[in-house]
Amino acid sequence: MKRILVVGAGPAGCSGAYSASRLGAEVLLVDIKKNIGEPVRSAELVPKLLKRTVDFKPIQTISNLVTVLNGKEYVVSSPAYMVDRREFDRHLVSLAIRAGAKVSMDTKLSFNGNETLINGIKSEFDFIIGCDGPSSFVGRHIGIKNMDFMFGIQGEYVLEKRLEDAYIFLDKKYVYGYAWLFPKGEYANVGLGISLKYSRESKRLLEGFVKMLVERKYIVNDSFITHTSGLIPCGGILTPCKNNILLAGDACGLAHPITGAGIAYACESGILAGKNASEGSAEKYKLEIMERYHETFERGRRKRKFLKENWNNFDETIRKCWPCFEEYNK
Ligand SMILES: Cc1cc2nc3c(=O)[nH]c(=O)nc-3n(C[C@H](O)[C@H](O)[C@H](O)COP(=O)(O)OP(=O)(O)OC[C@H]3O[C@@H](n4cnc5c(N)ncnc54)[C@H](O)[C@@H]3O)c2cc1C
Repeated sequence: MKRILVVGAGPAGCSGAYSASRLGAEVLLVDIKKNIGEPVRSAELVPKLLKRTVDFKPIQTISNLVTVLNGKEYVVSSPAYMVDRREFDRHLVSLAIRAGAKVSMDTKLSFNGNETLINGIKSEFDFIIGCDGPSSFVGRHIGIKNMDFMFGIQGEYVLEKRLEDAYIFLDKKYVYGYAWLFPKGEYANVGLGISLKYSRESKRLLEGFVKMLVERKYIVNDSFITHTSGLIPCGGILTPCKNNILLAGDACGLAHPITGAGIAYACESGILAGKNASEGSAEKYKLEIMERYHETFERGRRKRKFLKENWNNFDETIRKCWPCFEEYNK
């Protein structure tokens, strides 16, 4: 029986712990935080297809993705769900625990050469799966790290009326990123992602975006409820493993370089990592990850490079780089 340490109890780690435990491995899932799923660092939109990978309870169905550029709306059918990320992560961890995984929160991992220390105590594992997010400590330990980031900032607001669709706003001022309005029942996640280099502009830009949504009667004035922010890796897929250490989710660069979407990739890669670690094969994990994601992420990485180099010519560039436009596939 393989002994597996999973680091990070987000979607990737919980999914990894679940799949490895189900296949009979002895799994310890650790997280540096005190509480699963908190603070929420997500706009909480997932593709409907994620249901094929993990079961979860959505809080709203989304029919279309409406992209707004220069005042014009481009509507694309895009079946998706809004989830409550706190509940989503807690549900995934409950699956892992029922499958047999042991969970230890508020737990510090460190390395001393090749030794693994859990809260300072030497511990031995056959495999370690690093699912510890965009600035992965496990990844840095093996010299694999994300180099390009967007900074995401978001508030939760009360909607003037319920919406069926999710909205994306493209504008040159959201440098290399975009703004979003994702409805969830009576509320909406209102936020934006911007190049990390310009993150100090993000608060002012979000205030301007909120003001515009209030004026256009999407959200209620002064209805701010919660705030969140965080890093989104967008440099493309990283090397998924070295020796007996596997990386999954954001730790492996698996957030889309253009949209920043990463929840579904985190669940899928976590499941693959758990499966391959429990079967004793890091190399097979690498092959499966590359086979599944290399093409999509390589295209995304090239698009992002083009986007950054040609941002000054915004109107033409964005049509070639944002997936709802036909030009994206040319
Ligand atoms: C503002 C914002 C909005 C987003 N919106 C969306 C969206 O709408 N849809 C979407 O698909 N994606 C979205 N994303 C991206 C998505 O949230 C991530 O891709 C996803 O959470 C990745 O899951 P993960 O399990 O790899 O990492 P995480 O969810 O980051 O989980 C990592 C876990 O590792 C733990 N950890 C970190 N360091 C250590 C350590 N040293 N030791 C132990 N534990 C550690 C953390 O506490 C955390 O629990 C958004 C991101 C941001 C920042």
